Amino acid sequence: MRDSSCIFCKIAGGEIPSATIYEDEKFRVILDLGPASKGHALILPKEHFANIYELDEETAAAAFVLAKKMAGKMTEALGCDGFNIVQNNGTVAGQTVFHFHIHLIPRYEGDGVALGWKPGELTEEQKEDILARLQ
Ligand code: AMP
Ligand code: ZN
Repeated sequence: MRDSSCIFCKIAGGEIPSATIYEDEKFRVILDLGPASKGHALILPKEHFANIYELDEETAAAAFVLAKKMAGKMTEALGCDGFNIVQNNGTVAGQTVFHFHIHLIPRYEGDGVALGWKPGELTEEQKEDILARLQ
């Protein structure tokens, strides 16, 4: 299903033109308008899912297979030195467009792209709490 108020639905469906580098029945891959690095692209499902929680498992599997293929193809074509796959869910996690998408970010030596975090500490108490919740 598409959401008529969603810009990525319109882009994925071809209603709004985009710099498309790949397209099939289920996905469109476009260049990001505010790239973190040369070649930064986004995998957009053609169906509307706001985030990973809404995504069905079949689309999730296909999206990651496509991310793997695009990483290889883009690395070869662009000559990048590494690659980040990023996927944000929720405002607190940096999501700004609420249509599921996967960032494909080619990385180059010395590019200065900052995606990191300051490593914290896993305390015994936290570890026990998390294991009790998730195991
Ligand atoms: P996120 O913050 O994970 O939701 O990522 C949204 C991304 O979409 C950002 O990297 C934006 O630069 C990019 N973006 C927003 N609008 C457009 C657009 N119309 N075409 C291409 N990229 C876009
Ligand atoms: Zn949408």
